[in-house]
Amino acid sequence: MNIHEYQAKELLAKFGVPIPAGHAAFTVDEAVAAAGKLPGPLWVVKSQIHAGGRGKGKFKELPADAKGGVRLAFSMDEVRAHAKDMLGNTLVTIQTGEHGKQVNRLYITDGADIEKEFYLALLVDRGSGRIALVASTEGGMDIETVAHDTPERIHTFIIDPAAGIQAHHGRSVAFALGLSGDLYKQCISVVEQLYNAFVATDASQIEINPLATTKDGKLLVLDAKVGFDSNALYRHPDLVALRDLTEEDPAEVEASKYDLAFIKLDGNIGCLVNGAGLAMATMDIIKLNGAEPANFLDVGGGADKEKVTNAFKLILKDPAVKGILVNIFGGIMRCDIIAEGIIAAAKEVNLSVPLVVRLEGTNVELGKKILADSGLPIISGDNLGDAAAKIVAEVKKAA
Ligand code: GDP
Ligand code: MG
Repeated sequence: MNIHEYQAKELLAKFGVPIPAGHAAFTVDEAVAAAGKLPGPLWVVKSQIHAGGRGKGKFKELPADAKGGVRLAFSMDEVRAHAKDMLGNTLVTIQTGEHGKQVNRLYITDGADIEKEFYLALLVDRGSGRIALVASTEGGMDIETVAHDTPERIHTFIIDPAAGIQAHHGRSVAFALGLSGDLYKQCISVVEQLYNAFVATDASQIEINPLATTKDGKLLVLDAKVGFDSNALYRHPDLVALRDLTEEDPAEVEASKYDLAFIKLDGNIGCLVNGAGLAMATMDIIKLNGAEPANFLDVGGGADKEKVTNAFKLILKDPAVKGILVNIFGGIMRCDIIAEGIIAAAKEVNLSVPLVVRLEGTNVELGKKILADSGLPIISGDNLGDAAAKIVAEVKKAA
């Protein structure tokens, strides 16, 4: 789960992390009022969407030469004008995809007089299975570009979880960033504060880009992207409250209500599968047959009739779906239960696209009989290859 920049900064501030003062705003008037509470004479008006690259982004509704989603303001009039430009409009950045994201919230912050921008992130390193610090002198830039063009400017430090964060980690980061004197000391504290925040919140990522030094000798977090491990959210109701459902795919939000692992994809064949590995194999074989899956959907091991029905409805809500492939291995789950779920759902939603079902495992014969006796136009697949070929053929025939 991801949160907005202003939420991330408010959270990090609780751990002592130095951030500029700021206030969230949902309307133009609120934006001006927020700026009025800050000292000035420089303010930053920041679009709040769950995507980076806002500064260099473009608004769909504004002329191509208009400024991006992060703008400096030198007067209240400018704050008002920027807020008007942003609120309700669609910001397209390198991370949003071409559809962009609508800006519904702003963050008005005290403008910092930047000397230099750096990059600092904490994440879970898959290789070592530990938290890693990633630091670079190339702040304010897209880190993927830095990794590609100048990988030697990215420094990684792995933290031993038993010993936890140590001053030497902060010193290594400060050294890698070329900081000295008081900034060196500030860097050691910031690294420790960020690590404490990471562990305490079960974060999966904290990305600070930029971490900036100011002309008056301060180290400040100017942008923060924070994501949490969804499997640990049950321990953090306060963090769950920060979730902004408008930032998530509506179908994925609905799927999470039924405890379904669902990811929307761009193809036209809906998949209903039990088990993540089988779901991936199903998507692969659809592609192998020259078509594209419309989703990843794992109903899980112990799904009941209701869950299967909800999964079915969810798939059919997507207007792009032109056919459905059900691929179930009945181990813990019985094939007859699945068959009943499929029939219940197909009847309830007035199934209008071809449906191929491949069942295998416990009570498979009974499951197949239930499907055959249902009177519904369900096509049976004998095995994974056969089922995938059949659904792709049906969808192509209908097109
Ligand atoms: P992003 O484009 O989504 O990564 O948004 P950021 O919050 O990182 O802002 C983009 C850029 O705006 C930063 O890299 C800075 O160069 C600039 N910026 C952000 N905050 C300030 C500020 O307080 N003062 C100044 N002068 N520039 C800022
Ligand atoms: Mg940034």
